[in-house]
Amino acid sequence: MNLEKNQTLIVEIIDLTHEGLGVAKLERYPLFIENALPGEIVEVLIMKLGKKFGFAKVVKYLEKSDKRNDEIEVALLRTGIADLGHLAYPQQLEFKRQQIVNLLKKTSQLASVDVAKTIGMAQPFAYRNKAQIPVRKVDGVLQTGFFRKHSHDLVPIENYYIQDKVIDQIVLKCRDLFRKFNLKAYDEQAKTGLIKNVVVRRGRYSGEVMVVIVSTKPKIFRIDELVHELVAAFPAIKSVMQNIHPFMTNNIFSSEFQILYGQDFITDSLLGNQFKINALSFYQVNTEMAEILYQKAIELANLQVDDVVIDAYCGIGTIGQSIAKCVQHVYGVEIVPEAIINAQENGILNGLNNLTYEVGRAEDILPKWINEGIKPSVFIIDPPRKGLAESFIQASAATSPEKIVYVSCNPATFIRDAALYNQFGYQLKQIIPVDLFPQTKHVELVGLITKKK
Ligand code: SAH
Repeated sequence: MNLEKNQTLIVEIIDLTHEGLGVAKLERYPLFIENALPGEIVEVLIMKLGKKFGFAKVVKYLEKSDKRNDEIEVALLRTGIADLGHLAYPQQLEFKRQQIVNLLKKTSQLASVDVAKTIGMAQPFAYRNKAQIPVRKVDGVLQTGFFRKHSHDLVPIENYYIQDKVIDQIVLKCRDLFRKFNLKAYDEQAKTGLIKNVVVRRGRYSGEVMVVIVSTKPKIFRIDELVHELVAAFPAIKSVMQNIHPFMTNNIFSSEFQILYGQDFITDSLLGNQFKINALSFYQVNTEMAEILYQKAIELANLQVDDVVIDAYCGIGTIGQSIAKCVQHVYGVEIVPEAIINAQENGILNGLNNLTYEVGRAEDILPKWINEGIKPSVFIIDPPRKGLAESFIQASAATSPEKIVYVSCNPATFIRDAALYNQFGYQLKQIIPVDLFPQTKHVELVGLITKKK
């Protein structure tokens, strides 16, 4: 078949990629199409043709899917804030489960593992407790919004749909104040301007708010007045921080923070415990579903009073402290020093005295603990997207724990790691997907790995 760029043609969508793009096949050549759902017949314009696949965009919907959510704003799809928002919620949940099933099928020794139905939210909107919002000039005016996917073009947004509504309001107030005080938005191309990002966190239960203003330079003219107005409008703000970030990196923060108002943390509760959270700490963005996720992890761990638990990748200690009362001891390891300081403070806040924390890489600290004679009976691990280091898998299996409960935000690395555990005498028993990120393509799951009998 001869295809050309800028050609239009009519295709049927037969699948969705794990990125949420519609797939059409021309003979065997796949075309990936944004905002197109299986079953739909669409007229598309070919944008890009590669050797193995191409990209096209919809010009006209000839037949729409009855699973389409038509209410979603296209800008939210385009920016990736809600890149599955056009798919009805029950189908989103099935899409996430199916992705795990498909990946398992590719790994012969795991192909028959049971994957539960994805646990979803009753109200799958306005759930995010954190927003990281770029500030840029668009058509001569300072705006807050989100970047269009694969670009740094800012799309101005006022209703972010999946964020806590109070966070949306605070972002808009910041935008209005930046305008009022005539502050210059950062310009990536010219490398000029002052205000890069605004980051807002709000405790789901406490309502406490932290605002971080990320600027290229330390000096922000009349910042005291600006902060005063901001806090007057939202008294729940307990912390306003400035992060000074003159560099051109994709990291949102540099290491240089200063307090502009109040304290450098907020507190929220999770499964009844209190947690101090600072700007750099990882904290699950969907508190309500994180509680369900952790509860499932706890159920799978089926803990006993004499259990010695390793909470690897522990962040500020949320999972380990949720179970500490039911077990003998919890050892937590985490790479971000600030998070470990929070974890230690949180242990005191929660009246727990059977916790030990260390800063470092899980794959380095675990062998050290083993050398010191610690004998873990259960592991609860929650690594970032890249998954576990092979040395960690080997070392943890060598300690011969009864169970390994693995929380993952990336099914691909999870399955890779589970297959490795298989080689070391363990077997993946069960997977429960929990929807921490409704309206987006992101998948979260908890899996149980046990010693082979
Ligand atoms: N269990 C926590 C945090 C999970 S996120 C919670 O549910 O809140 C993953 C955490 O792993 C992050 O806090 C990150 O800083 C940390 N991390 C990343 N690489 C690491 C490594 N090699 N060793 C230990 N911790 C690491």
